[in-house]
Amino acid sequence: MGLYYFDYGHGGKDPGATYKGRKEADDVLKVGMKTAAIMRANGHTVDESRTTDKTLSLRQRTNDANKKNYDALVSFHRNAFNRKARGVEVFSFPGSSGSRAMALRMQKELVKIGFVDRGAKTANFHMLRESRALAVLPELGFIDNSADNKIFDDNIDKIAEAIARSLVGNINATKPPAPTKPRNYVMNGDRGNSIIDIKQLQKDLIKVGYGVGSAGADGIFGKGTETAVYNFQREYVGGANGIAGPKTLRILKEVLERKASDKNKDNPDRELFYRVVTESFENRNNAEKYRAELKKAGFDSFIDIYNK
Ligand SMILES: [Zn+2]
Repeated sequence: MGLYYFDYGHGGKDPGATYKGRKEADDVLKVGMKTAAIMRANGHTVDESRTTDKTLSLRQRTNDANKKNYDALVSFHRNAFNRKARGVEVFSFPGSSGSRAMALRMQKELVKIGFVDRGAKTANFHMLRESRALAVLPELGFIDNSADNKIFDDNIDKIAEAIARSLVGNINATKPPAPTKPRNYVMNGDRGNSIIDIKQLQKDLIKVGYGVGSAGADGIFGKGTETAVYNFQREYVGGANGIAGPKTLRILKEVLERKASDKNKDNPDRELFYRVVTESFENRNNAEKYRAELKKAGFDSFIDIYNK
């Protein structure tokens, strides 16, 4: 079984190419992680330069990629030019025949999906030049061309399968991930094959004001849920990819708790406590001293901080 390094271009402070609010950094993370999932489901090991929207220099990426003896490196990108240019192209470093063969295979697989064929090309890119492993850099359609974006969005699973197939030959795209390694995130296409309860996630999203589509909380992570996650992330998480992972889930929980405690304030049924107050201090030290005296005298107390 193979050992692969996937680099998802851009991220964090560098959105890559952008078009109508769409970021290359998000697109390549999404399709790349899907490809990694397929590879793993087929028994291969994939290390990734990033799994979140974070900033990485090219040098950091290749340093990381050169730590192990990877069979190949794939650096995922999307193109941009003049809103008219279209199609897919896969780059390899000039003179690397192994990388070139891989680029040709990948190009062939990607064109089958419907992208315009711009051909497998060579270029002196950092990621290709500095990688010890065989390396290819696919440009997965033009982000500033609506037709290419439609192909990308409609066929994202097929793109992931095509890339995986070009790397390892036959793949079983429908094989679920190995149960020993449950994913800690959920994304479009998932239906319960994760440690995350999708239905609960949907209910929580609805509670904080993000509808998940007409089907409601049905336990199926489709386009509506993806949009809800994406919009929630834009508002609260900073950096959005429509994939609900640990960070998004943690922040969602916090927002829910905040909402719940806000509600509690006007809830007449809330539990009442009766507090005995003996003294207030402007100075924390004096409060601590007073508390120590109370303790000596056998009374338990606590310091309650409030604004007058
Ligand atoms: Zn790029």
